[in-house]
Amino acid sequence: LALEVFEVNAFGVAVDPERVAVYIRWSTDEQSEGTTLEVQRESCEHYLLAQGWKLREELIFVDEGFSGGTLERPGLNALRKAVRAGRVSCVVVFKLDRLSRSVIDTVNMVLQEWEGLCFVKSTREPVDTTTSAGKMFFYMLASYAEWERSVIKERTMSGKVKRAQQGKNPGFTAPYGYKRGDKPGAWLIDEDEAAVVGRVFEEYLAGKGIHAIAGGLYNAGIRPRRSTRWHATTIAQMLTNVAYTGVLEYGRTTVAPRAVQESIGKQRVTFDEPRFARVEGALPVIIPPEVFERAQRVHAGKAMVQGKRSLSSEFLLTGIVTCPCGGTLRGDTRSGRGKRYYRCCNTVSSRPTPCKSGMVLCSELEETVVAEVRRAFDPANRAAYLSDWERQTREALLRVESDLAYVRNALNSLCARRKRLDTDYDAGDLPAKLYTGRVEKLEVEEAQLRESEAGGFQRLEEIRQAKFDATEFDELAARIDAWENLSAEERKQVLRHAVGACTAFRPQGRGAPLEVSVTIRQPELRGLRVS
Ligand SMILES: [Zn+2]
Repeated sequence: LALEVFEVNAFGVAVDPERVAVYIRWSTDEQSEGTTLEVQRESCEHYLLAQGWKLREELIFVDEGFSGGTLERPGLNALRKAVRAGRVSCVVVFKLDRLSRSVIDTVNMVLQEWEGLCFVKSTREPVDTTTSAGKMFFYMLASYAEWERSVIKERTMSGKVKRAQQGKNPGFTAPYGYKRGDKPGAWLIDEDEAAVVGRVFEEYLAGKGIHAIAGGLYNAGIRPRRSTRWHATTIAQMLTNVAYTGVLEYGRTTVAPRAVQESIGKQRVTFDEPRFARVEGALPVIIPPEVFERAQRVHAGKAMVQGKRSLSSEFLLTGIVTCPCGGTLRGDTRSGRGKRYYRCCNTVSSRPTPCKSGMVLCSELEETVVAEVRRAFDPANRAAYLSDWERQTREALLRVESDLAYVRNALNSLCARRKRLDTDYDAGDLPAKLYTGRVEKLEVEEAQLRESEAGGFQRLEEIRQAKFDATEFDELAARIDAWENLSAEERKQVLRHAVGACTAFRPQGRGAPLEVSVTIRQPELRGLRVS
């Protein structure tokens, strides 16, 4: 008789070993190291095995690529339906946060919707909802999970970079030309799409415009992934996507060069965020770097021609300067009588609360910003720039060291748990089946910790060996020095590189002083990846 494996909860519902469900959720936008589908599934299977419960394929519910932020997931919906239909006596999850990322949702589902129907077990957490003490602990765990997630979110950027360094899918849709491998691993070249990418670059370098290229693809019967026709913007994005040279960039909003945008009548802004990172060799190469560079030079050339024609591109700071209200400052060509002004886009009176900033005189703002950039990239400030870089390096070291200390602590406590298990087993307090199951669980956990430890050591080594690369500083310094000889487009490029953030505001009224704040972009940790 299998009676001895029946567990009975407070409501008199037995865990029927034949009706145990497993729920697995994996989403690419999370830091999922160690919680991949395979790891979760294996961990749950071990758990069932250790309990002597039966693993039923039809009771395994999987949501792949779904965030835990919503309960609208096909796998979860099917599981809830099965629970309501009485087909499930227990739900096993890897961790509670697989069910939902919200404490309220988890608690409502487990303690209300499922109360009396089934209970929940987590392979990694001591969850037992059968007693009131267990419920209390369950609340605490659920809140802890929510807190932990917010911490993890902060680290996601470094996780993405690390995975890219290891040649793994960094967690978003593969760009056109690539496809996902059969595992959440490396991106592969999609031969058909890559051929289209090659054709686009080739035609562009042969002098075709982006509209003509888009039309040509359509006429050739080639369609983009999720649309019936090609837009010029799509082509422009393709032509400027560094991913095709094998490089992945994070934290930067990449948009088409201004000339392309203007030719298609779009105004979009490029922000360089402080947490910008670049990983070379992260993807297989579709476009050789030298071909890509040539295409970028063609863009730049077109931008110069455009600059002579279009008044708006004479506004050096478009896309760089913002208003403290959050609006962007745009060149205003209508008003002026020979003078040029910037104007906050939120000043239009049709808004419920229009911005109070007055017109900003172009020459005054531009002079202020250029002076600020000149000062920052004065060769005399090279030392300060270097010490900034050193500070960033030190901070990165400290971060990794504290992560490593955390991992070491976890390993120690794992070791202690293992010793307790051994003692209990030797004393005969623990049945062999339970002992093996728990030891296996600890081993899975240990392997994961060892892996993050190794990753930490590797990164530590990278940071220690990183060398300061002053090329960028010297280049900017040289170009600022030659400011008078630069074209409008070159000046814009310098400012876009040098300025991290800039706001300008002028209170309304005659003679009110211009309030400007300029933040020079921090030097990045070159040679290693900023996290
Ligand atoms: Zn404003």
